[in-house]
Amino acid sequence: MKVFKFGGASVKDAAGVENVRRIVAQETEPLVIVVSAMGKTTNAFERIVNARWENRHDDAVLEYDKIRAYHRAIADELGQGELFDNGITSQDIIDGAVVPADYDEFYDQVVCMGELFSSRMLSAYLTKCDIENEWLCMQQLLITDKTFREAKVDYEESCKRIRKRIFGSKAKVFVAQGFIGGTIEGYHTTLGREGSDYTAALMANFLDAESVTIWKDVPGILNADPRIVDDTVLIPELSYREAVELAYSGAQVIHPKSIRPVENKKIPLYVKPFNDPAASGSVICETDRKVDVPVYIWRKNQLLITMRAKDFSFILEESLSHIFDIIKRHRLKVSMIQSSAVTISVCVDNTRYVPDAIEELRDAYAVTYNEGLSLLTIRGTTPEILKREQEGRSIMLTQTTRRTARLVIKDENEQMAK
Ligand code: ASP
Ligand code: MG
Repeated sequence: MKVFKFGGASVKDAAGVENVRRIVAQETEPLVIVVSAMGKTTNAFERIVNARWENRHDDAVLEYDKIRAYHRAIADELGQGELFDNGITSQDIIDGAVVPADYDEFYDQVVCMGELFSSRMLSAYLTKCDIENEWLCMQQLLITDKTFREAKVDYEESCKRIRKRIFGSKAKVFVAQGFIGGTIEGYHTTLGREGSDYTAALMANFLDAESVTIWKDVPGILNADPRIVDDTVLIPELSYREAVELAYSGAQVIHPKSIRPVENKKIPLYVKPFNDPAASGSVICETDRKVDVPVYIWRKNQLLITMRAKDFSFILEESLSHIFDIIKRHRLKVSMIQSSAVTISVCVDNTRYVPDAIEELRDAYAVTYNEGLSLLTIRGTTPEILKREQEGRSIMLTQTTRRTARLVIKDENEQMAK
């Protein structure tokens, strides 16, 4: 059994779906295909959620029309237009949407449709091309709790259901949705943005797969983002540990949560170019091989929050667990920590949960923060590299360990501390 994951960019148009078919057709072994929503569909569904949430009905209908037209055009090109002939209008759907009191809950009920569309279309297309396959309903197989937008997976229950479903079937190819799951009671949930890699890794773990392949629009794992840097190098092989560090620092190539499920069973995870299936790409596996080039990882849209105990008590000794309890409850994602005797600073992703967290922190601490920041992590740094990267930049904070440097950098239109 192998697991293949295709991201949104790989299935953004009919040619992409056809390329998936071509890659899948070459496989002889049983295969689970995990697919993301097509192109930027998840972003579009987020706009619908916001429009409907703010009672901008017309905007929601317009946006949904666009999503349907986009999928319809791909379906038409693949000769499957009939998938969309159900007579229901966007207006019917938006008007009929039940809006729960909780935003995150509403979000998950709507946004999951992106993966449902893409997996249905892919499964139908494979069938049409004589690749027999079964569509899996991950909302009934990947069981989670009710932490909407970042649902925690119930490993045991999910494993049991997924094994039963797959090993109980004669089919050799299965098409599953990434990113989405469901609760025992039937609520739809999602695992967090870009969570399809995580689904693929979980499937591999549950099924004791021989490998996972993430098909991407890059040649493999590179030492820097090719959109930012011209002369990138491919890293052919890296350890699970190194991969976790890269993913956590913000490397876009793979979701941080997707390493543990494969590491636990020592399943190799390949990252391969979608447009060149014969290329070797990169592999994350059990290896002693060290990455021998410096790796640059940007994590954008950061906020640096500094807290000081109001009574000048020693913050590390007395307040650390209190602060991190607040951070965790408000679902902030910490990318870096630095402390002095009476202050602690954390860099976090700037999300919609931040204002409430700051408000609560302000009850107990003197809080200042800066927005408009990026965190640059350099693994395998040298004094020369560090100097070069600092030059001409407005740096708020530098942290260095033996081989890693982390720079908190003000974006060009940075804001003042508040
Ligand atoms: N479609 C989801 C997203 O765009 C999940 C994924 O692509 O992995 O975040
Ligand atoms: Mg995606």
